[in-house]
Amino acid sequence: VLREKLGQYHELDPSQFILGNGSNEIIELLGHVFLDPDDEVLVGEHAFVVYKLVALLMGARVVETAMPNLTHDLNTMREEVSERTKLIFLPSPNNPTGTANTAREIDTFVHSLPEHVIFCLDEAYAEYQEVPFDPRPHIREGRKVLAMRTFSKIHGLAGLRIGYGYGSPEMIGLLQQARQPFNANSVAQATAIAALE
Ligand SMILES: *Cc1c(COP(=O)(O)O)cnc(C)c1O
Repeated sequence: VLREKLGQYHELDPSQFILGNGSNEIIELLGHVFLDPDDEVLVGEHAFVVYKLVALLMGARVVETAMPNLTHDLNTMREEVSERTKLIFLPSPNNPTGTANTAREIDTFVHSLPEHVIFCLDEAYAEYQEVPFDPRPHIREGRKVLAMRTFSKIHGLAGLRIGYGYGSPEMIGLLQQARQPFNANSVAQATAIAALE
């Protein structure tokens, strides 16, 4: 039922959502599904730390890019993309630096990425922005884009552990295969529905 609600909220199909025990679990699922030891994961040097922890846990190589003024520099990140880059994580706004990239900047960046790269946009704080980047056109165009949101921040439900990812039905199908069958508990889901309403 929460996935249907999210479908209405984002104007996407319910099959384009995966629920997680917090969006931290979605980050871990991305690692399980996509990362092999010879893959590279591209992150900013002061990005949310869980991306790096998951990448290291899966034995992948972490490529950290400099963040002048504590902000993700998307030009530098683009230059660091290699044949082996599998995942790129961009939290905008970021935690712990509180900095964000503009919607236009992110749009240009996503368009510039080669086919083999999966772009993961962490929208934990998107609701606090006046003009957040909208990943849905890129998802509809078939780019490998996965966005993640959480009920922990704007809704204040961190202790209940509920977040979600959204993307193409194919991408979500792959992530669904890697999760535990009962990963998102019913109290958290009921509360999330109430929060959306
Ligand atoms: C809080 C946070 C999350 C996820 O939190 P969950 O409680 O696991 O949903 C993800 N990314 C960033 C940048 C965060 O600050």
